[in-house]
Amino acid sequence: MAEESHCGLCARPVDTELPPGLPGSPEVDEIIPVSRGGSPYDRANCRLVHRLCNQRRGNGIRAQRRPVVTFITARHWDTDNA
Ligand SMILES: [Zn+2]
Repeated sequence: MAEESHCGLCARPVDTELPPGLPGSPEVDEIIPVSRGGSPYDRANCRLVHRLCNQRRGNGIRAQRRPVVTFITARHWDTDNA
């Protein structure tokens, strides 16, 4: 699936070569947080996201799982990519 190389939150490409700990580093996001009963091992509950996006999202459940196209115009934080 195409979204494996793109962030599940901002829909921008994720550089999986980056080391952990950077804002753009790849992280696995549990769609339903483990603290709310989601499984960290269930592939259907996991998606690729940026570390920064994951942190911004926090622990809330993102109910609306919009298609990638609707996210593309939302570019609020391009500073790290300039
Ligand atoms: Zn992202």
